[in-house]
Amino acid sequence: MDDTTLKIAIAAFIHDIGKFADKEALGVTEQYINNNSAYLPIRNGRHKDHHAIYTAAFIEYFKKDLPYEFNSSGWGEGDKFIKLAAGHHNPKTPMQQIITVADWLASGMDSDEFDKSEKNSIQSYKKTRLLPLFEQLQKPRMDDLELFSYVYHLKPLSPVSIFSEEKNKIQKNDPKKEYKKLFDGFVHDLKRLRHKDKKLALWFDHFESLTMTYTSAIPAAGAGSVVPDVSLYDHCRLTSAFATAIYLYHRETETLDAESIKNGDDQKFFMISGNFYGIQDFIFADYGDTRKYRSKLLRGKSFYISLLSELAADLLCKRIGLPSVSVILNAAGKFTILAQNTYNALSAIEKTKQEINKWLMDISFGEVSIGFSHVAAGYKDFSTEKFMDLWEEMGSRMEENKFSKIDLNRHGGTIAGYLDQFDNRLDHPMCTLCGKRPSVPETNYALSTDQIGQVCRLCRDHVFIGTQLVKKDRIIIASKDAKISGNKNQLTEPIFGQYQLLFSSSDAKDPLNSEQIFKYWDISLYQDDAPSQDVSKKIINSYVPVYDKEGRKNYQSLLAAKSKAKQEEMIEEIHPGDPKTFNHIAVNALDKNEDGKVSGVEALGALKADVDYLGMLMGCGLERQKYTISRLAALSRQLNYYFALYLPHLFMTDKRFKNIYTVFAGGDDLFLIGPWNRIYESSLILNKTFSDYVCRNPEIHFSAGISLYKAHTPLNNIANSAEAALEKSKSKGRNRLTMFSQTATWDEVKELENIREKFETWLQNEWLTKSMLHSLNEFISMAAMEKQALKKKPISTDDMHCFKWRALFYYFAARNIGKQIEEKERRREIVDELTACMIKWLEKYEGRLRIPLWNVVYNYR
Ligand SMILES: [Zn+2]
Repeated sequence: MDDTTLKIAIAAFIHDIGKFADKEALGVTEQYINNNSAYLPIRNGRHKDHHAIYTAAFIEYFKKDLPYEFNSSGWGEGDKFIKLAAGHHNPKTPMQQIITVADWLASGMDSDEFDKSEKNSIQSYKKTRLLPLFEQLQKPRMDDLELFSYVYHLKPLSPVSIFSEEKNKIQKNDPKKEYKKLFDGFVHDLKRLRHKDKKLALWFDHFESLTMTYTSAIPAAGAGSVVPDVSLYDHCRLTSAFATAIYLYHRETETLDAESIKNGDDQKFFMISGNFYGIQDFIFADYGDTRKYRSKLLRGKSFYISLLSELAADLLCKRIGLPSVSVILNAAGKFTILAQNTYNALSAIEKTKQEINKWLMDISFGEVSIGFSHVAAGYKDFSTEKFMDLWEEMGSRMEENKFSKIDLNRHGGTIAGYLDQFDNRLDHPMCTLCGKRPSVPETNYALSTDQIGQVCRLCRDHVFIGTQLVKKDRIIIASKDAKISGNKNQLTEPIFGQYQLLFSSSDAKDPLNSEQIFKYWDISLYQDDAPSQDVSKKIINSYVPVYDKEGRKNYQSLLAAKSKAKQEEMIEEIHPGDPKTFNHIAVNALDKNEDGKVSGVEALGALKADVDYLGMLMGCGLERQKYTISRLAALSRQLNYYFALYLPHLFMTDKRFKNIYTVFAGGDDLFLIGPWNRIYESSLILNKTFSDYVCRNPEIHFSAGISLYKAHTPLNNIANSAEAALEKSKSKGRNRLTMFSQTATWDEVKELENIREKFETWLQNEWLTKSMLHSLNEFISMAAMEKQALKKKPISTDDMHCFKWRALFYYFAARNIGKQIEEKERRREIVDELTACMIKWLEKYEGRLRIPLWNVVYNYR
């Protein structure tokens, strides 16, 4: 990317900063406004009080804290930076005109509509709070502020602030004070941003992230003809992406003049989407003796896949000449880039695809591949009348791409030289972790704490990443030839042959010179509040349980029932700071009772979940006249936050969930492995918090499936049966949970949860015994069979006894319930009460009663 492109991108990004850094916040004088009135259009014979002038003031007042290029001439071609950033309401040059047009496009309006809405909104934006998109989905005519029950807090982005609040609870707060606090935080961190004078593109990454933190909850437009539901951050980002693409289009087609820029007839853009295929198999492949490394490998691999997606988007942007702000959507391994429709861009797409696929072929032998699809678009396609059609077309292009994912002419047939790669002088010429790729000698000493011997480069890198992720809070993405001392702390196989990666920490100095650094991310998990930041905050890391210092002591008691040898082996595996193995996680399903005895069943639970009808929600959940690219980007970003920002925070801070291992969580889906009983508990909390997150909109919900395993079950089997449980929830009508092969709606799950509590109380009162709970299983089967028979489904004579279940149950209850109660009358009452309850439940829930029943049986064994 050249200087001029970067200048346009940043100028467009910063164009509306004056809505946040305004007259009051900056203390702008009347003198300043008069001197700079050229930035303002004249309306009714006088200049209007306007944010464009405050954008200019921000750039001048914070001169010292911003890159020196912002206030100097000679940076790139054309206008001075400050003129570009502040000139968008009264454009005087072709380059200023570009930002003006980009501003309209990001809003999904033409110039007339835009003028009207700006006029209406100027006075009141500081009184306005951002309204949730979630509350509007699938609800027509939400076009008045009064119709909304929820609003967002005016707070920096954090796992707590991303939840909306009921409007009446928030109205007392003074928005002016909250704006001031936000601005003070922004300025505090602005002064700390790194790489300001070292590498401008990198500083812009940090600045973009800082703006996300502080302006995600500020509406881009105030109350007026538009509902204020798009954040200033989303508006700025999209404006920047549009401006960059428009600039490059006109530069590459040699039409950089105001008339051509205003002309909306040409298809000036490409929307490019990227998608990886074969990820599931890549992540869940288990082989040979990998048990000890399973959780590290899995963590490493799953993060690696996120990295591949990030870096594929980055590589494509680089090749096309775009800044990273051109990636307009990015979640869970899928990304969308806005680019210029030129020959250059087209050939870059093709070349980059081939380059990435060749590398993927070499490392995964065809298991993983990437597909790019693109559609051409003009200004009008981003208008509210037409954007829905454009988005639909993108979707169908991606579907087509699925079926032609690998170029068989290029990559078909046997893999050339596969056997030659193996070094037969090694102990294990074939990698013992994947059983696919050749071992290489240099991996022998590549990991200091693990004695895994020689493995392949990729597996070594995965274990390396999986181990470091839980210890370090910063990641630096650098060029492949970056010189780093020692080779233990970097990849042995640079990604796409281009990107080196190293871990660092917040107190460390840059280990490299800035020219070699492409990305510098703070990946630490959020505490309740937004962190103070000095580099880009990247929401890419997820929560996994690690051993703490008391690990050995705590496990000692839980392992008591095992053989001495097994106990010693498992204690030996505990290293504080390392991710827990699945064996240990399964043990955490056991509970230590007051008498020191251990109860429960040692097993893993896996939960797979995804948001129901997501394509429909994103494709047509909003009314056509509200359907803009900014809202779509905001919606995708906000949905991702629930999984990628809120959940890690929940697991980290809520003691019940501290042993839950996140396989992945992002976009719209989720895969967790944990102690089976904690996984069940987490599903209840997920259902509740997700509903809160989407403003209790009954149209937005998710399906989930839970399945149970012994700790040594191969990952592939775990993934497949969790998926099967999820599919069952979907096939029964979605918005449901499946556990123990039984499917219930979330409302039923709540009722069943009350039943579970009743069972527990009765067990504690010794009115019921564990063996009686076991017998209840038989009655559940009979009750279910009876229902089938009544629906006239064929039933064999052997099964006819099912009709007798009530009589049998009365007999069973009278003999067994409350046996130790001495007072006859009291026992009679209890038997009657419990019998009536259980018969009612058996009739109503049939098999679904197994969900609370087995939860109790397994916990009290
Ligand atoms: Zn391997």
